[in-house]
Amino acid sequence: MKSKCSVLINLLVLQNLAVLCVSQDFDFFYLVQQWPGSFCDSDKSSCCYPTTGKPAADFGIHGLWPNYNDGSYPQNCDSNNPFNESEISDLISSMRKNWPSLSCPSSNGESFWTHEWEKHGTCSESVLDQHDYFETTLGLKQQTKLLQSLQSAGINPNGKFYSLSDIRDAIKEGTGYTPWIECNEDSSGNSQLYQVYLCVDKSGSNLIECPVFPKGKCGSQIEFPTF
Ligand code: AMP
Ligand code: AMP
Repeated sequence: MKSKCSVLINLLVLQNLAVLCVSQDFDFFYLVQQWPGSFCDSDKSSCCYPTTGKPAADFGIHGLWPNYNDGSYPQNCDSNNPFNESEISDLISSMRKNWPSLSCPSSNGESFWTHEWEKHGTCSESVLDQHDYFETTLGLKQQTKLLQSLQSAGINPNGKFYSLSDIRDAIKEGTGYTPWIECNEDSSGNSQLYQVYLCVDKSGSNLIECPVFPKGKCGSQIEFPTF
C-alpha cells in the first residue's frame, strides 16, 4: 500500500511539474504603439511603405507584449503554433490600416505580424488565441486614441518640440493611465517621440497602471515629427 501511494504521489508531483514547464505565464501586457514618422526618420534605419500604400498619419501598433512584474518577459513560447493568416482573414483590412509594417523591403505586413505573434503572442496563448490576440490588440488601439489625446493638448506632429511631461500628461488625461514614452533619434540626433507604452491586464480587457516601466531615456524636449 505504502509503495502504491508513493508511486501515486510521485506521479502527481511529476504532472504538476510538467504543467509548470509548459505553461508560460505572465503578469500583464504592454500595448506598444509607434509614431510612423519617428520609425522612418531614425538614425538607425530607413523605412519602406507597405505594398498597399503609405499608412495614415496616425500611431500604428507595434505589439501587445506579455510581461512579468519584475520587468522581464517571456518570448517565443510555442513553436508549434505558427502565425496563420487564414485565422485572421476577417481582420486583415483593419490590420493593414492599424498595424502597418514599415521595415524594408516593402511588405504587406505578414512578416511583421508573424514576428509579433511568434515572439510575443505565443506567450499569452493560454489567454488569447491567434484571432483573439490580434482582435484584442486592434480594439485596445481604438480605445486609446493617442493622437487625439495629444492633439487635444496642442501637441501635434509638426516637427516641433514638446516637453516629456506635457506629452505624458496629455496621454494620461486622454486615456486615464500613465504612459511610458520611448524616444529614438532623428538623423540630426534630436530626441523624438517614437513609441508609447500603456499597460493592459492579463485578460487583455482593461488598461491598468503599469506595474513596472521599461527603461530608457528621452531628452527633456522631444520632437514630434511629421509623417
Ligand atoms: P520586437 O522584437 O517585438 O521587440 O520588435 C522589434 C522588431 O520589430 C525590430 O526588428 C524592429 O525593426 C521591428 N519593427 C518595429 N516597428 C516595425 C514596423 N512598424 N514595421 C516593421 N517592423 C517593425
Ligand atoms: P527622471 O527625470 O528620470 O527622474 O524622471 C522624472 C519623472 O518622469 C519620473 O516620474 C519618471 O518616472 C518619469 N519619466 C522619466 N522618463 C520617462 C519616460 N520616458 N516616459 C514617461 N515617464 C518618464
